[in-house]
Amino acid sequence: MKAEDSKKTGQSFSAVTVSPSLARKLAASGIRNEFDLVLHLPLRYEDETRLDSIRDAPEGRPVQLEGVVIRCDVMYRPRRQLVCQIQDDSGTVFIRFLHFYGSQVKAYAMGTRMRVLGEVRQGFFGPEMVHPKCHVVKAGKPLADTLTPVYPAVKGVARETMRKLVYQVLHDDAVARSGCLAEILPEQITRKYQLESFPDSVKLLHYPLPGMPVDALQQRTHPVWQRIRFDELLAQQLSLRLHYHQRRGFHAPVLRPTGHLAEKLIQQLSYQLTDAQQRVIAEICHDLAMPYPMQRLLQGDVGSGKTIVAALTVLQVISNGCQAAIMAPTEILAEQHFQQFSRWFEPLGITLVLITGSQKNARRQAAVTAIATGQVMLAVGTHALFQGDIRFARLGFVIIDEQHRFGVGQRLALRMKGMESGLVPHQLMMSATPIPRTLSMSYYADLDISVIDSLPPGRSPVTTRLVEDYRRDEVIARIREACRSGRQAYWICPLIEESATLQLKTAIETFATLRTIFPDLKTGLVHGRLPAKEKAELMRAFRQGEIQLLVATTVIEVGVDVPNASLMVIEHAERMGLSQLHQLRGRVGRGTEVSVCILLYQQPLSDIARERLRVIFKHTDGFEIARHDLRIRGPGEFLGVQQSGVPLLRFADLEQDAGLLEQARTVAEILLRDNPDVAQQHLQRWSGNRNEYLRV
Ligand code: ADP
Ligand code: MG
Repeated sequence: MKAEDSKKTGQSFSAVTVSPSLARKLAASGIRNEFDLVLHLPLRYEDETRLDSIRDAPEGRPVQLEGVVIRCDVMYRPRRQLVCQIQDDSGTVFIRFLHFYGSQVKAYAMGTRMRVLGEVRQGFFGPEMVHPKCHVVKAGKPLADTLTPVYPAVKGVARETMRKLVYQVLHDDAVARSGCLAEILPEQITRKYQLESFPDSVKLLHYPLPGMPVDALQQRTHPVWQRIRFDELLAQQLSLRLHYHQRRGFHAPVLRPTGHLAEKLIQQLSYQLTDAQQRVIAEICHDLAMPYPMQRLLQGDVGSGKTIVAALTVLQVISNGCQAAIMAPTEILAEQHFQQFSRWFEPLGITLVLITGSQKNARRQAAVTAIATGQVMLAVGTHALFQGDIRFARLGFVIIDEQHRFGVGQRLALRMKGMESGLVPHQLMMSATPIPRTLSMSYYADLDISVIDSLPPGRSPVTTRLVEDYRRDEVIARIREACRSGRQAYWICPLIEESATLQLKTAIETFATLRTIFPDLKTGLVHGRLPAKEKAELMRAFRQGEIQLLVATTVIEVGVDVPNASLMVIEHAERMGLSQLHQLRGRVGRGTEVSVCILLYQQPLSDIARERLRVIFKHTDGFEIARHDLRIRGPGEFLGVQQSGVPLLRFADLEQDAGLLEQARTVAEILLRDNPDVAQQHLQRWSGNRNEYLRV
């Protein structure tokens, strides 16, 4: 029964015999069952299917030679080494070993026949091979009939052991019966999408026939790779789409459009909503009226006006008698949202509370009670919103602003909060980090996505200047000029990797220096260690123009909105990532004034830093910047694997396999609809019980 279970869940080996200690070592490298061995694909191949003649062996690429040993000496000059010479009908070649065992000296005695695989080059005595792969053979030993796979190293397991294990999985009948090599996909699908057979593809990848284009196999451009990549993408799509469809089985409060509150708020605004804003509001409001939970990602570049979208959709929730919660990643942003929403909602007779980690007990207690009794309909806060003692009376809607800044656990915890009342709240995640299409089709396939694709009218793009650090004086002059003409400026202190304390120290010093340089300006310093109240007071003063120059750490990176600030200086811009620079720069250019962002940098620049500065200088469109960011960093870093909780693709490449991804998406939907068993089998095979591709 037990073996049967593990076979079903694919969590262990069921058909090949693997000792417990070997199983442990394999598991440490992620190999847990036969199918994982099937997918342990070679890095490269050795060609032992042919022999070259010694005289004509080409140099500079691996060749296999065979000959009889005519000399075998340990030499001591210029260093200790074993030098053999072998001969065939055409000539002789030297074989040198710089490291060797005594047993080798014995084994390669005169008259022994040796087969060697390596590269020939011109040595001191003539053509030679250094440290070839080497066997003693009997005359007439047949050549290999396929190329020999060289596998990625598995810690603690000999290459030869891996080779034998994989060979067994591919060739043993008992293993074959266990099904790990079987074709799972129905024929209509493989035919329609011109997919090679799965067993043929993997067999070929492990043991290619002589004459196959080795380079294309090694570089993974050969068509048989298509099938592997397709299957991987299919597994990912199946998992995420299954999750997407399963969500429809949960219950969420039905929140129908009522309109009157939203109309009142719209009348208050000093601007008109853009078409893009209206479209995404309609999409969200449509979902809120469904009896199952929405899970939608709202993407809109920095400054595209996501906050008002959040506000208008919250009103639909409140007018249906449900509560909403808005979570922001920093106290400064939570406070700003609280202020903004208060200004919007108080005239409508809606009260709200703020919940942050640093709140005093009494205020917090009052807020917590108001949420629990359902007296307040909107709570704005940091991740403190889902701490233990907070209970919502009727939470219907959760908005997560700057969602990429939160970890999986934090997002899940907030959602669980809502489920305490038996209903799953609708969820909207907002992000200013635009996700390139292939990436969102892939990793975000379980979400619905809304995009605000245009900025409000009248914005003039921010001018970016790159200035080397020694030209600070010019920067100082610019600040003086901007502040004199009534505008405001930010001075962002360098990010110091891993050390908030050092960043703080630098910020304090910079602040002191700037104060002596600008004795006549009203200056302020804001950083993460300030008590929330002081932070809030500083931001209020800056917003109202009482502070002209704000020195800040990267705490103001996300969300801060002060339209009159039109100049930003970022120190040590070379240390910051692209999305961070884009976010910071997005703090200016929010009004109609022409804004400037000065990036101070210090030489020497690394290649990556130079490339980042080039991209941020050249582009203002967040989407373009994200594309470059993805290109420079790769999907793992881009998504922040740890916090996104999504495992990366091993075989498929989203840039190159965009077409394949579209097909996998289509096939996933077809299978989930018409062949759920096949879908299940495929998922089982690729992810076992690990639920790998699930997101919260
Ligand atoms: P983000 O998408 O970065 O969160 P915000 O919601 O902070 O952007 O909005 C940025 C600025 O744009 C705010 O000052 C806001 O008042 C303004 N804004 C939002 N929508 C419009 C609009 N339709 N027309 C003009 N200004 C707008
Ligand atoms: Mg925002």
